[in-house]
Amino acid sequence: MPELPEVEVILNQLRVHIGGSTIHEFHIRRSDIIQTGLSTHHWYRGSRITDITRKGKSLIFTCTKNQDIRYMVAELGMTGLFLFHSASAGYHKHIHLTFTFPSSHESTLHYWNPRRFGRVYLFDAEHVHQFTQRRFGVDPLSLSQENFYDRIHRTRGRLKAFLLNQHNLAGIGNIYANEILYDARIHPHTQGCRLSKAAIARLYDSMHTILRKAIRSGGSSIRDFRAPDGTRGQYQKQHVIYQKTGRPCVRGCPTTIRRLVTERRSFYCPMCQKRR
Ligand SMILES: [Zn+2]
Repeated sequence: MPELPEVEVILNQLRVHIGGSTIHEFHIRRSDIIQTGLSTHHWYRGSRITDITRKGKSLIFTCTKNQDIRYMVAELGMTGLFLFHSASAGYHKHIHLTFTFPSSHESTLHYWNPRRFGRVYLFDAEHVHQFTQRRFGVDPLSLSQENFYDRIHRTRGRLKAFLLNQHNLAGIGNIYANEILYDARIHPHTQGCRLSKAAIARLYDSMHTILRKAIRSGGSSIRDFRAPDGTRGQYQKQHVIYQKTGRPCVRGCPTTIRRLVTERRSFYCPMCQKRR
């Protein structure tokens, strides 16, 4: 599923190609994809996209028309993609929404989702604020080290579960939680409150390093991830622990990588991620 790095890659392309553009048409093929605000969708025609941001794994479009501002929040769920028309050959069956921008370089943007777990919400300012407050924890890339320490230090549950909970940190999913914990040499079941200050600092650094490297590599294309222009991410080639059960640890430990079935499959090296 698209996690923080993949959604950041999508965000960067959307900003370049349709940021500032005016929405000419907003076609809805499956109305149940619009979870909230379906009756307001006509308003968006003729509005200008004045900002696009990311919250966790969701994208928020700010649309402006005649002094009014409304928002569109798009969740991609397990399999959702935003695709420019130029990259959408073979994807037509599961396109649920289409936006057109006649004056932009990329004149058509599709929202595609074969499994329909993704949702789109149309909100006014008050409701988008309530929604984001309720739904998303802090962003891992803008969180300070002190704030991170305070949160981890108070955690009695398993660290992997903490990282995956979108109300704590918004944006990390199973791929990056595994890669981050391995990089920091911390067992997925460790309780946050049992970690030393140095270990929490290592975890913070690993989180930043892994997420930023993944963004630079265009994200991870496990299954079907594509950026809006159709390019695949390359970071899956740098995964060292995710789905590597039975393979040797890249640090040269004399053991192989094991799998736990908790928190949607955890992969770990029993030597360099010892449980504390
Ligand atoms: Zn190891």
